[in-house]
Amino acid sequence: MNLESLYQELILDHYKNPLNKGLATNPEISVHHVNPSCGDEIDLNLRTSSDRIDSVTWDGVGCSISQASTSVMSDLVTGKSFHDVSELIDSFTELMQSKGSESGDEALLGDAVAFAGVSKYPARIKCALLGWMAFKDALVQLDHYQGKNS
Ligand code: ZN
Repeated sequence: MNLESLYQELILDHYKNPLNKGLATNPEISVHHVNPSCGDEIDLNLRTSSDRIDSVTWDGVGCSISQASTSVMSDLVTGKSFHDVSELIDSFTELMQSKGSESGDEALLGDAVAFAGVSKYPARIKCALLGWMAFKDALVQLDHYQGKNS
């Protein structure tokens, strides 16, 4: 099995068995993001403590890339500091803007490197970024985003 089919398996697995799906009650902040070009929708609830992410829960409909990417993101960021998750958001965004020229830093991005190939397809990039942008929006609104574009 080559790397590309391994990555496709991983994306399908997250799509079929999404992590942290199902909105927690009493969120600190709740955001709703849509990707009209594909019809993807994500609701995301965030809870934080003084310096880190306590929980990210979400619900959504849409293509396998949007749903799987949100699942991977929610797993990656849970328990991490605001600084670290800001770095993750920036790194994943750069990967998605790389037009297929980068494979991603697996030590940092974990399963999210499986979406590297998506950056070759401009129409799908917004699908992969949807959940990440929803999470970033929630962080920005709480004034916890510490990345490059803050
Ligand atoms: Zn999509």
